Amino acid sequence: MITTTVAGSLPKPAWLAEPEKLWAPWRLDGDVLVEGQQDAALAWIKIQEDAGIEIVSDGEQFRKHFVHGFLEQVGGIDWQRMTTMGIRDDRYDAEVPTVTSAVKRKKSVHGDGVKFCCQHVNNKFKFTLPGPMTICDTIADAHYGDRAKMAMAFAELLNEEARELEALGVDVIQFDEPAFNAFMDQVPIWGIDALHRAIDGLTCTTAVHICYGYGIQENIDWKESLGEEWRQYEQFFPALNESRIDQISLECADSKVPLSVLALLKDKDVLVGAIDVASEIIETPEKVASTLRSAMEFVDPERIIACTNCGMAPLPRHVAEGKLKALGAGAALLRKELGFSG
Ligand code: ZN
Repeated sequence: MITTTVAGSLPKPAWLAEPEKLWAPWRLDGDVLVEGQQDAALAWIKIQEDAGIEIVSDGEQFRKHFVHGFLEQVGGIDWQRMTTMGIRDDRYDAEVPTVTSAVKRKKSVHGDGVKFCCQHVNNKFKFTLPGPMTICDTIADAHYGDRAKMAMAFAELLNEEARELEALGVDVIQFDEPAFNAFMDQVPIWGIDALHRAIDGLTCTTAVHICYGYGIQENIDWKESLGEEWRQYEQFFPALNESRIDQISLECADSKVPLSVLALLKDKDVLVGAIDVASEIIETPEKVASTLRSAMEFVDPERIIACTNCGMAPLPRHVAEGKLKALGAGAALLRKELGFSG
């Protein structure tokens, strides 16, 4: 009842990478880098567990970029052929590599990091991977000539990786699909098919995180252009509810998404974002509980998992820590109110 988790990323410690910067270069390298990533993951696992987070993540301490971190171990991609591409339906530009031949996984991408984390997590462990549609929106294509076809090719690699991570002991595998609300009409046509290919044969819990992006300026400007109510999700939530994905993660804290859209997910567990990642103000536990209570109008409490709106990577570390504590405490407050102790 009202368990807790995080959307995924957490800030890198200042000794590992420049803080408050997305995709900052590493400050260590070689074996020392690996040790640093392990130490950082260990710290965040402990901080999350101390904050009462029940399904914890590695905070993405082992990768610089949530999409390219996976692609770096994929063959068929030319990293010398960088293209500036308008991504998320041209919302902002990113420097992306180019697919030049059929893609294949060179080796396990996240296996070592996950193996390490699973030895240290007392609670449950969740691992996030980029979704196939989002990968295709973060890479240039000079081979497949068709996004849906390329998405299926990447979904196959994601599936190989996910099966391996499941065998290592991961409890939840989440695919991040921020591209879903940039290409709403494509989600029911091929976006969900590609996700299904990615989760094929998995027995662990599966999740998809959809969102309106990190709290970076380009996203803030775009959000302002979306009007008073963000109803984009209505276009594909019915299809998502029909899908085989177990959990859906979305932003509900200080968001203009009308919570009534949650009623479209009646067969899913909902990761209710109750922490605003675009603000450095730390929520009070009461505020977190109040956001969760509002979601309860549309989702039964057994299906609610309290979560952050999105990744917290760009926030100052002490702010992210404060927000994790507020999340844990807010969920506990609501459980108590509902008559469930702990
Ligand atoms: Zn997000």
